[in-house]
Amino acid sequence: MSGSLRPSAGTPFVESSNKQTLSFVSNDVMTWQDGALTLIGSRCVACGELFFPRARGCTRCCGTGLTDTALGHQGRLWSWTVQGFRPKQPYDGDSSDADFQPYGVGYVELDNGLKVEARLTVADPAQLRIGMPMRLTLDAYRRTPAGEPVHTYAFEPAPEAPAP
Ligand SMILES: [Zn+2]
Repeated sequence: MSGSLRPSAGTPFVESSNKQTLSFVSNDVMTWQDGALTLIGSRCVACGELFFPRARGCTRCCGTGLTDTALGHQGRLWSWTVQGFRPKQPYDGDSSDADFQPYGVGYVELDNGLKVEARLTVADPAQLRIGMPMRLTLDAYRRTPAGEPVHTYAFEPAPEAPAP
């Protein structure tokens, strides 16, 4: 994807501080923590269940006490597909039918077990494998009228962790 800001191969996943001024499609879903991007979800105070995106009530125990919690930025690919057509409304990306490029979408199982649906930076089936390590990144999926990119979260393939 041409608008992606994914780091080049070998770049450690610690973003420079100037990226903290980037526009997000929503400030409710992700933030910067110790220099790295992290998803934000909810944790049920009563039973510990995790939710993404943030929730107001717990669907497991019906508790209403939920706190924001950082969900981290890495996991493993749980399921995926390639979206071959432009999403319907209310999707507000600025691609047209003429310049639309198929993109990957999938579920990533985070280290805490929560499965998160997200765009993938890769749309080539040959590069996607169930269980492969993935890490959070940003995807510039549209621009403001002033031409500033607006970023959403996405996952990209990550290097396999070395054996312990
Ligand atoms: Zn609960």
